[in-house]
Amino acid sequence: MATNTQHGLGAQDEALLKRYSQVHMNVFGTPLRVMDHGQGCRLWDVDGNVYLDFLAGIAVNALGYAHPAWVKAVQEQAASMAHVSNYFATKTQIELAAKLVELSGAPAGSHVYFGNSGAEGNEAALKLAKLYGRTLPGSTTMFGGKPARIIALTHGFHGRTLGALSATWKPVIRKPYEPLLPGVDFVEVGDVNALRDEFCMTGSGPYAKGPVAAVIMELIQGEAGVRPVGADFVKAARALCDEHKALLIIDEVQTGIGRTGTWFAFQNEELSGGVVPDMITFAKGVASGFPMGGMIAFGDKLSKLFTPGSHGSTFAGNPLGASAAMATLETIERDHVLDNVRRRGEQLRAGVMSGGNPLFTGVRGAGLLNAIQLQHPCAHAAMEWALEHGLIVNAVAPDALRLAPPLIVTEAEVNEALSILNQIPCELPDD
Ligand SMILES: *Cc1c(COP(=O)(O)O)cnc(C)c1O
Repeated sequence: MATNTQHGLGAQDEALLKRYSQVHMNVFGTPLRVMDHGQGCRLWDVDGNVYLDFLAGIAVNALGYAHPAWVKAVQEQAASMAHVSNYFATKTQIELAAKLVELSGAPAGSHVYFGNSGAEGNEAALKLAKLYGRTLPGSTTMFGGKPARIIALTHGFHGRTLGALSATWKPVIRKPYEPLLPGVDFVEVGDVNALRDEFCMTGSGPYAKGPVAAVIMELIQGEAGVRPVGADFVKAARALCDEHKALLIIDEVQTGIGRTGTWFAFQNEELSGGVVPDMITFAKGVASGFPMGGMIAFGDKLSKLFTPGSHGSTFAGNPLGASAAMATLETIERDHVLDNVRRRGEQLRAGVMSGGNPLFTGVRGAGLLNAIQLQHPCAHAAMEWALEHGLIVNAVAPDALRLAPPLIVTEAEVNEALSILNQIPCELPDD
C-alpha cells in the first residue's frame, strides 16, 4: 500500500462534520474524520480514505477491527441474550471474572466488580477504599477523628465522573466542577517525602487530617503523555501504604490487558518494582471495543467490604460485554499476543530512534503504549501531518505523540508506520 497518498478532509467528511456540530454536544472538539469501517489495523473514512491506526480507539481495540473471534462471540451472544440485569448471572460473566482474577495473579478469594468504563472501575475502587477507610483508627468522627482520605498523584488521570474526577489532577478539567469529593489530596509524582508527609499529617490538632485510606496511581500516566511514575516511587508508596495500613490502588485502565506487554503493568518489574497492589482497575482494552470496565479487589477480606446494595450498575457485566471480553482475553492468550506486544514495542521504539527524524528527541513507554518526545511543541500539527499521510497517531501532549496500535499489529505495519513517522517534517507550527 502506498504511504504517501493524501488523506485530506473529503466532501462527505465535511458535510457530516457540519451536521455533527449541529446535533452533538461539543465536548470533544471537531472530530478529525468521520469513520466508516475498519479491518485489522486499518480504518476507512466516509470518503474512502484508508488509515493505518496507531491509536486503536485510545488503546481500546486490542484485537483491531472486526477480528473474526470477537465478531463471532458478539454475534452469537447478541443472537442469544444481550442483557439480563444483575438479578441474574450468566456463565460468561462468571467465567470472565474468574479469568481476570487468574490473569492478574491476585490471591485466592479475590473478587471482580464489573462496570462499563474506566471511570466506573475507579468509582468502584474509590467507594471500596472509602468503606475500608472507615475501619481505620482515627477515622471515626464520633470520637473526634477525621474521615479517611485518598491520595492521588499530580498528572494522574482516572476519569471524568465526579468521583474519579476528584482524583484526576489536570486543573482545567477538574476546577470547573469543584467542590468535588472532599478528602482527596495530591502528591507530586516521584516525591516520596511529600507522600510520607501526607501519611504523617494524621492524628489530632488543628492541622491534622484524616488517616489515608488509599493511594491511587497509574504506573504509566497515559493521558499525561505516557510517563512512567518509576519503580522506586511505586515501591516507596507500597511500603508507606503497608506501614500505615492504607490500600494501594493501581489504575490499569490504559496499561492493563496486555497493553504494556504483560497482562497488567504491575506484573512488569521495570514498571512496578515487583509491587503487588490491593486493587486494580481495568477497562479500555478488556473487551476490545465493547464498553466495559471494572475493578479487582485483591484478597477475600477487602472484597467482602462490598455487600448487597454497596454498589452496582444496570449494565454491569452484561453477557454481551462479557462475551466480547472473553473473546478478547482468549484470543490474546491463544495467539501469544503478549509476545507480539513486546516485540512490536521494541521494534517501534528502536525504529523511531534509528529513523533519524530530527523532530524526535526521544521515545518512552512499554509494550505498545509509547510516546515520541518532540523537539518542539508541534504535536497537533505532527498528528495532522501523519493523518494526511495515512497514519493515525495521537497528540497526547503539546510535545508528545502517543502510539498505541492494536496489540495484533504486524511487523510490516510497524515498519509502514515508521516510514510515515520518519518523514514528518521538523518545521511544523507549534500548538
Ligand atoms: C481512559 C482512562 C480512564 C477513564 O476511562 P473512561 O472509560 O474514559 O471512563 C481512567 N484511567 C485511566 C488511566 C485512563 O487512561
